[in-house]
Amino acid sequence: MSVLINGKELAKEIRLELKEKVEKENLSPMLAVILCGDDAASKVYVRNKSKACDEVGIKFKEYLLPSETKQEELLSLIDKLNNDSEVDGILLQSPIPKGLNIEEAFARISPEKDVDGFNPYNVGKLVIGEDGFIPCTPYGIMKMFEKYNIDLHGKKAVVIGRSNIVGKPTAQCLLSKNATVTICHSKTKDLKEELKEADVIVAAVGVRALVKADMVKDGVVVIDVGMNRNDEGKLCGDVDFEEVSKKASYITPVPGGVGPMTIAMLMNNVVKAHIQRNHKR
Ligand code: NAP
Repeated sequence: MSVLINGKELAKEIRLELKEKVEKENLSPMLAVILCGDDAASKVYVRNKSKACDEVGIKFKEYLLPSETKQEELLSLIDKLNNDSEVDGILLQSPIPKGLNIEEAFARISPEKDVDGFNPYNVGKLVIGEDGFIPCTPYGIMKMFEKYNIDLHGKKAVVIGRSNIVGKPTAQCLLSKNATVTICHSKTKDLKEELKEADVIVAAVGVRALVKADMVKDGVVVIDVGMNRNDEGKLCGDVDFEEVSKKASYITPVPGGVGPMTIAMLMNNVVKAHIQRNHKR
């Protein structure tokens, strides 16, 4: 039977540590979130981020833009927030409406306020192993390995998914810990073949129960990033949890695994941005 990696508990600990730090050092961090359009799931994510900010003692400003927003208007709001000395972190909630260029918008966020780590400058820093902002989901995953003392050195790690938000930066983080990393995607010929020798699997796809017990070896460590709905409308991951958990040594649940850690690491990045911007360290 596997050990359940309790992301919910770990995220709570991290938020508490940050709250203590904010109080003790008399910090006044601020996060600005831009929500463009009316994607229902995005509204829930933003609400959860706002709640976490409240808990930690981070000021939260929300900017709601209509679906018809033009690229120049979005960029001009980002410019305004870049120039607002009180704002430490800027987050553009994805997805944004079709017709808008999200990569250009990410690149416009000042690297020192880029708490999501999507600006090419911070992406580059991650690749060359310099300190910058690491995207929150991969960062949360790495924290889970650290807290559960899961050694990655020399391990065979397979990341399923190659998005700029999760898959690629997660692979980079695993590589920085000396894992031997394979990235799979929709064009991978034989996923089972790639997974069968893996010591660590990170599934970031968005396909329910894609990873089945007969695809993995005994003792594998499984991190399930996926957020899907089952037939009853309940949240579930990319991994067949029931069956795979019988073979895994460690596994994350959905919900209660990677999700809460993503938000906790966002809080961490905002506090870090505030400290760096104010030369408090
Ligand atoms: P994405 O941009 O849609 O990327 C999905 C990736 O999966 C792509 O690289 C795609 O390959 C690959 N893929 C699709 N079908 C596949 C298959 N049958 N076999 C192997 N690979 C396949 O998604 P994302 O933004 O990375 O998110 C992935 C999942 O994580 C989603 O469920 C999302 O909701 C969830 N998520 C969770 C959190 C959290 O905090 N818990 C945060 C972010 C995302 P191609 O590149 O070839 O298309």
